[in-house]
Amino acid sequence: MNAAPPQANHANREPDSANLRHASGGKDAPALASNFLRAIIAEDNRTNKYGGRVVTRFPPEPNGYLHYGHAKSIILNFGLAAENNGICHLRYDDTNPLKEGVEFEDSIADAVRWLGYDWGGHRYHASDYYGDLYRFAEWFITQDLAYVDSQSAEEMRATRGTLTQPGRDSPFRTRSVAENLDLFRRMRAGEFPDGAHILRLKIDMASANVNMRDPAIYRIRHASHHRTGDAWCIYPLYDYTHAISDALERITHSICTLEFQDHRPLYDWVINRLADGGQLERPLPQQFEFARLNLTYVVLSKRRLIELVREHHVDGWDDPRMPTLVGARRRGFTPEGFQIFAERIGVSKADSWIDMSVLEDCMRDDLNGRAERRMAVLDPVRLVIDNYPEGASEECFPPNHPQRPELGRRPVPFSRELWIERDDYSESPPKGYFRLTPGAEVRLRYGYIIRCVGADKDAAGNVTAVHCTYDPATRSGTPGADTRKVKGNIHWLSAAHAVPAEVRLYDRLFRVPFPGARNPWGVRAEAAVPDVPAPTHHVAVAGDDEDAPEVAERNYIDDLNPESKRVIAAFVEPALATVAPETRVQFERHGYFVADLADHQPGRPVFNRAVTLRDSWTRAATG
Ligand code: ATP
Ligand code: MG
Repeated sequence: MNAAPPQANHANREPDSANLRHASGGKDAPALASNFLRAIIAEDNRTNKYGGRVVTRFPPEPNGYLHYGHAKSIILNFGLAAENNGICHLRYDDTNPLKEGVEFEDSIADAVRWLGYDWGGHRYHASDYYGDLYRFAEWFITQDLAYVDSQSAEEMRATRGTLTQPGRDSPFRTRSVAENLDLFRRMRAGEFPDGAHILRLKIDMASANVNMRDPAIYRIRHASHHRTGDAWCIYPLYDYTHAISDALERITHSICTLEFQDHRPLYDWVINRLADGGQLERPLPQQFEFARLNLTYVVLSKRRLIELVREHHVDGWDDPRMPTLVGARRRGFTPEGFQIFAERIGVSKADSWIDMSVLEDCMRDDLNGRAERRMAVLDPVRLVIDNYPEGASEECFPPNHPQRPELGRRPVPFSRELWIERDDYSESPPKGYFRLTPGAEVRLRYGYIIRCVGADKDAAGNVTAVHCTYDPATRSGTPGADTRKVKGNIHWLSAAHAVPAEVRLYDRLFRVPFPGARNPWGVRAEAAVPDVPAPTHHVAVAGDDEDAPEVAERNYIDDLNPESKRVIAAFVEPALATVAPETRVQFERHGYFVADLADHQPGRPVFNRAVTLRDSWTRAATG
């Protein structure tokens, strides 16, 4: 129970190599721009405040799946440690036995690993410290710095005061040390029901900072914990636990989101009192706050993500449309793309909104470099080359990557009947249409130049086959093939060789930037969405769990994008049928796709669209 705190002094240790996989020196790592946290750490290293140690931590509560916002925090914490030859701890903040579980712990560890980080043995639980936390609580009581309050929850709320009014002292605040110690021990022994008493720090009910008005640090909760079982029926509260966990682990820089700024005085109070009393070692950790990731076109609140899953608006936590990291992985997003994103958006102390197109662009940038090119026809119509010999076929050799010749070429069968995209043929083409129309010439990529001679139609007037002739002298890669220039350049697949595939065209989960907001299309002044009409009033966003319900006014569910998922029957190159799940490719002219992690099989290829080649949303928004 009373786990030895990891008080090991890291000062004389070799830096842990575990976190170094993404150290700044890596040749593919994005260039590092200065930010306030990097500056603080550099300064602390210069003044030798922590003897050169940099120890950060990522402290998720194991009560849900991680989302894009957590990726920012993970990359920040593990990244800052790695840049400084330091270490980052993975610590589960498991102080609420009612909501937490092993399923979530595992998925959190997987997500951190997927992002490219490793805690190298430094995996801890707040529950590891229950023994110490209890001992410290008794110490606070003996110092007359904590007392057992027996007011009801309503009484406590009523005496807490407001932002403008001080609180009032509890009638139990003057209990003697002996009485407090006795009551607290009996709380622990299980003598009282839930809610009968709580343990509060004795700080200052008149403090301007509400967090300093005798905050509760222990509550009675007769509940089994997923790690400690029934060993405890009192559980420590977050602020108290977090500060002490940081200090026990000898964290140097405790980095959290802005909403904890007003908790910092409490954080400092707790660990400084303990250090003054010889209970904790100095130097103590220091807390720094940064602005959380706010992203348009999604919701990043655990409560809402749970709702989306429970109410079946999506196909589970790992639905590729979900802004979870399991969803991102299945979508075909990359860890490296998230790293580019984190570096591009930077870190600041001012709240701001990042447009989804920024994240999508980062994924494009990363996928562009790594994804091999393949051909897929998503909306097929038959193309018949009337002068190509029946039954014959040959191979064309497209490059796997236009900028990376070292990736080689692959054979793609070519024959008399091909699949092409339905919209690559038009009888009444709009101006500037350079594809197939009767009389027009285009190049079949990596193949021949063809001339369109007409089309067959069914009774309803739908095109059933496009006819053309080819010029055998124009085969790509042969001498003189380029002498004739054509403007159109379309992709194709041999109908006899193409493999049917299920293709899932994913798009943004919500159709508006601020789901559930009174002005869902609006932008805050600092939003990164350019050229959108200025909002007529302040945007209220239904994003955070703390939001008062009346702020949202509308139901964010109404803003779901009905076209966020479209499943189509497509054709792909034969080679794509046998790729491993999670293989990422570019379907030429369409976008980046990934072989689905769960459903893709050799006999039944399934591809998910990660992102289109170009952003169609920003253009749509700007008209
Ligand atoms: P909860 O409401 O359950 O506390 P949470 O989103 O804060 O939800 P935690 O598990 O407590 O989830 O978060 C772990 C860490 O991730 C915390 O340090 C938190 O500050 C950080 N984090 C959470 N959301 C974001 C976000 N949108 N941007 C950046 N960091 C985030
Ligand atoms: Mg939290």
